Amino acid sequence: MAPRKLAAGNWKMNGTLASLEQIDQLLADHPAPGCDVLICPPAVLVHAMAARASGRIAVGGQDCHAKASGAHTGDIAAVELADVGASHVILGHSERRTDHAETDAQVEAKSVAAHEAGLIAVICVGETEAQRDAGETLDVISAQLAGSVPAGATAANTVIAYEPVWAIGTGRTPTNDQIAEVHALMRERLSARFADGADMSLLYGGSVKPSNAAEIFATPHVNGALVGGASLKAADFGPIIAALSAA
Ligand code: PEP
Repeated sequence: MAPRKLAAGNWKMNGTLASLEQIDQLLADHPAPGCDVLICPPAVLVHAMAARASGRIAVGGQDCHAKASGAHTGDIAAVELADVGASHVILGHSERRTDHAETDAQVEAKSVAAHEAGLIAVICVGETEAQRDAGETLDVISAQLAGSVPAGATAANTVIAYEPVWAIGTGRTPTNDQIAEVHALMRERLSARFADGADMSLLYGGSVKPSNAAEIFATPHVNGALVGGASLKAADFGPIIAALSAA
């Protein structure tokens, strides 16, 4: 099995019910994309978006708790996301790692919870600018993969997203050689650890837009993208889906 191509959108803390018309537009413009399409809206929109999409695109959460239920005010369980129609959940996004001091161990525990709930975990890794400047990128990515991806990960239940922290929302992107170097390392590490690691989908994320998508998708071991800002509007996300479909 070859890794599945996935165009994933992360709406972050953006969007209201009115924003769901973007889904209608996306589905009208791309009724049969040549790749999987996922949108992770704010949690309060997951149910409505899943109903609106009715299986034509996948819908996911942006985080989940490591426990299935309990006294955790404000948190959301993986099983609750699944109950309202989510098929995926983003875990370990750098904004969670920074804003909520999430550790690799927590991301690993959340990933286990996601798997137990039947969700596909989209696990994010990425170096800061200081770490890249210090020549630590490959060590950081190796450590995050080792610490965040649980032993039960398979190509069917896990997607890995490489998102350099300094490229998220900044308009800056690594060179293709830099993306290729990290993706080759991830493929090597995952293949060494998991029986079907060669088949896990690897996404690049960080300032992907219609103008740079095709070049990024031509990079070895890049099986798709995790897209923030450019996923909010069908007019921007659509061309990215088209570029991945053609890759
Ligand atoms: C992200 O937050 O996952 C992301 C990649 O954001 P952007 O595309 O806006 O850089």
